[in-house]
Amino acid sequence: MNLENLVRENIKRLTPYSSARKEYSGSARIFLDANENSFGSPLKENYNRYPDPLQTEIKEKVAGWNEIKPSQIFVGNGSDEAIDLLFRIFCRPQIDNIVICPPTYGMYEVSAEINDVEIKRAYLTENFQLNVEAIKKTFDEKSKLLFICSPNNPTGNSFSRDEILDLARCFQGIVVVDEAYIHFSGEKSLTGEIGNFPNLVVLQTFSKAWGLAGLRVGLAFASEEIIKLFNKVKPPYNISQIAQQAIAKAFENRAQVEKIIAEIIDEREKLIEKLNDYSFVTGIYPTDANFVLVKTVDADSVYKFLLDEKIVVRNRNNVELCAGCLRITIGTPVENENLLKALEKFTA
Ligand SMILES: *Cc1c(COP(=O)(O)O)cnc(C)c1O
Repeated sequence: MNLENLVRENIKRLTPYSSARKEYSGSARIFLDANENSFGSPLKENYNRYPDPLQTEIKEKVAGWNEIKPSQIFVGNGSDEAIDLLFRIFCRPQIDNIVICPPTYGMYEVSAEINDVEIKRAYLTENFQLNVEAIKKTFDEKSKLLFICSPNNPTGNSFSRDEILDLARCFQGIVVVDEAYIHFSGEKSLTGEIGNFPNLVVLQTFSKAWGLAGLRVGLAFASEEIIKLFNKVKPPYNISQIAQQAIAKAFENRAQVEKIIAEIIDEREKLIEKLNDYSFVTGIYPTDANFVLVKTVDADSVYKFLLDEKIVVRNRNNVELCAGCLRITIGTPVENENLLKALEKFTA
């Protein structure tokens, strides 16, 4: 893999926007460089200054936690921002393509469509494993990104680490491993492989295990060279001051994150066991995530029935390989009990 050859010419040529806070980031007595409002705001908290464009504090905390260098981390407005930036850095509209392995997370397709980039598909096998041979046959010289979501949304299972790394070895483009649900799985993250695979990008997020979806903060881990490209293309102040402060604070409470993860996994196993007793449930797929994909005799009817009960799950009936399936997020014990109670009344 040669990174130089993968990056779009316009991005290589780009002179990035140089924000005031980036040009001068030291400590001064008076800041009159960014056209901020020195008088303050209607809020008592101080949000009148632009936030750190490179999120130094968050990166240091994340680095310590993942045994990675701050320079190998990009902080995005959700991992969705990292996904979009990958397209803008690497994919020439109407020329290049990406490879996805459906059924999988919908944003890869949406981002591809927005950026006018062709989507090639190598479907998972019947039991939701990577079809490695099919993926290898799908690549061509215009394939820039391969998206692998592990644990996968909506199927819930993790893919073989060896298969993913084998693909990273064979593929001339960037392999993006989306680990949004890794904290619920017993599998080891691939962040530790970034030093060995210059074409590997690992995505994680604060939206799931950390319980901070409302803040919109996601992470990309990759080589320093790739992270430099992210920083070149991203909007200057992509993470708000509120979000940066809240993430830093959340790190003080990491023990609670671990505790909640354990509780969710415990609830997941209980819910799976109980769901298996319902006659309209024909299968429950193995899951490493905070949701479970449930196969039913009639997903549309169960979905509508639950809506009448004011319970909303995700209907995946129309997704390839997921006919009859509902994706159910693991709730609190009370929520799960309410779900099970409602389902008792369902008659197929
Ligand atoms: C939820 C989810 C994300 C998280 O996206 P954010 O923008 O960080 O909230 C990323 N990837 C997958 C597969 C997801 O399911």
